[in-house]
Amino acid sequence: MSESNVIWQSQLNKARIAYDSLLTRFSDVLAGSDALKQVLKDFPVKITPYYLDLINKTGKTGPIAKQVLPSVAELEAVSGTSPDPLHETQFMPVPGLLHKYSNRVLVLLTQTCAVHCRFCFRRHALKNNLKTMLPANLEKIADYIRVHKEVSEVILSGGDPLTLASEAIDHTLRLFSGIPHIRTFRIHTKIPAVLPERITKDLIEILSRYKTMWIVTHFNHPYELTSQVIEVCAAMINHGLPLLNQTVLLKNVNDNVDTLRDLFLGLIQLRIKPYYLHLLDAVAGASHFGVEEMKAVNLLKMLNKNLPGYAVPVLVKEIPGRSGKTPIF
Ligand SMILES: *Cc1c(COP(=O)(O)O)cnc(C)c1O
Repeated sequence: MSESNVIWQSQLNKARIAYDSLLTRFSDVLAGSDALKQVLKDFPVKITPYYLDLINKTGKTGPIAKQVLPSVAELEAVSGTSPDPLHETQFMPVPGLLHKYSNRVLVLLTQTCAVHCRFCFRRHALKNNLKTMLPANLEKIADYIRVHKEVSEVILSGGDPLTLASEAIDHTLRLFSGIPHIRTFRIHTKIPAVLPERITKDLIEILSRYKTMWIVTHFNHPYELTSQVIEVCAAMINHGLPLLNQTVLLKNVNDNVDTLRDLFLGLIQLRIKPYYLHLLDAVAGASHFGVEEMKAVNLLKMLNKNLPGYAVPVLVKEIPGRSGKTPIF
């Protein structure tokens, strides 16, 4: 294993934070309780050393901290929420493969993420349903795609596909690139935002080796656009990997026009196209991050007046059962 792989894998291994060390580290903002213990049991805390450092720089009650620090509010039962708000398990012809939109499929390549976003819409799915994915299912997934000629794009998601070893990513891409009707690949990843060390030269070389590859990043706040992030994003783009970004609209994190404006201007400056702004899905445990649709539409109207057209993402929401995300504005 090369030197640079050792670094990111050890950072990834350090990300899981147990209850006691969490309380020690965040004693000023988190109070120990049985409820908090339960929260961690349901959905453990994971924060990479890089992202912890960013929290230290931006405040323990700041917008970075809020995305990854647990809250007892996660235990509140809120009507209308569910562990599988998008009814995803219903669109899984093969375990690990979501075929919901006719011409593209989403492969849930791993359950592992480098950080646990407290608002994650797959926070329950990762724990419960998707144990059996690799490697046997990868062949079954490829068999399914081979006979579904309407599919032109394979999207790698999870979990975070870039937490896998480079060899596994290479193997996966090679397998799918052998299917003639697949024209493009896409990777949905939070890694550039939370574990930039993982974007090694080797990885970039693998990602750009096969079919046209689009990378979809997940930046939610301008504080996340650090010098290290700027460097790895430029490295990807300079090697021919175009970058899009998805943002989730989150209460008390980025639900104001100045923050979103800074974020989207920052992204286009880095040559990253803001793609979607998502309204929060009705996942159980994350309702305290919800922003009302009316407020979201008003934010978008203000952004449209203040930004270049291509800097404004499409505001979307997932309506269970619809074959595609529904544009709201
Ligand atoms: C979001 C999503 C996609 C990708 O949709 P785009 O609109 O093409 O970005 C594909 N499959 C599933 C199940 C999704 O949730």
